[in-house]
Amino acid sequence: MRLLIASVAVGLALAASPALTAEIKAVASFSILGDMVQRIGGDRVAVTTIVGPNADTHVYEPTPADAAAVSGTQIFFVNGLGFEGWLDRLVGATGFKGPVITSSDGVKTHTMDKDGQTVTDPHAWQSLSNGLLYVANIEKGLCAVDAAGCAIYEANAAAYSAEISALDAEVKAQIAAVPEAQRKVITTHDAFGYFGLEYGVKFLAPEGISTDSEASAADVAKLIEQVRSEGVKALFIENMSDPRLVEQIAKETGANVGGALYADALSRPDEGAPTYLDMFRHNVALLVPALEGK
Ligand code: ZN
Repeated sequence: MRLLIASVAVGLALAASPALTAEIKAVASFSILGDMVQRIGGDRVAVTTIVGPNADTHVYEPTPADAAAVSGTQIFFVNGLGFEGWLDRLVGATGFKGPVITSSDGVKTHTMDKDGQTVTDPHAWQSLSNGLLYVANIEKGLCAVDAAGCAIYEANAAAYSAEISALDAEVKAQIAAVPEAQRKVITTHDAFGYFGLEYGVKFLAPEGISTDSEASAADVAKLIEQVRSEGVKALFIENMSDPRLVEQIAKETGANVGGALYADALSRPDEGAPTYLDMFRHNVALLVPALEGK
């Protein structure tokens, strides 16, 4: 009897799994992109995400399970712009010959300094208008591998884009209400360059563009000086970064730590930012009162 119950339970679990009802298997390199692909793919696409919630893609080491997921997929979605430094190695190891979709294609990029070198900032998803480009690229990629599902992907992408545009307008209005001189924030790494450009907020970061390098003592001293001279009130940590540096700067300058911003990864489902749009809502809800000095 116990065996029967167990096998019924397994049967139900399998029936509920989207992987068995889905037509298409897709892999996404990190959690934010995984959420976007799932929104556009709907029930038709089973999405596996390589770098999960609260994890740091910059310093990730792919596992044999990741290689197996990529080999067994029909389409692989990545951010590109150098975000996944391990990408070529992973694809090379799997021999995957299917489409690798660079979701950031068409983004107007900007460069920044990383350890004295000029590099392209990969964090393009931190502007919602770039998010619309990601949606278009994902839709196009899914249509190319599954023409029969294309009308569904187009409809899902259109509905999702409308939500993204509405939130974009809301974010712009909220930040525009803060006097420009007060829109200065410190974060643990330079993940908010596109956000800053799009919404008119100045982000200062003690590290370079990636989380894979430590800030030097001279960088920290420079930043402390900058916090004081510019009168920065808001310091933030990020969900996937070490908070100690920002906490040290807060202690030495008397500025407040305004909470954790979601930068390069979503939260787990039971936390504050389980989707791309939730991430934006969470970040703006923390940022705006901090910029206002509340
Ligand atoms: Zn980053």
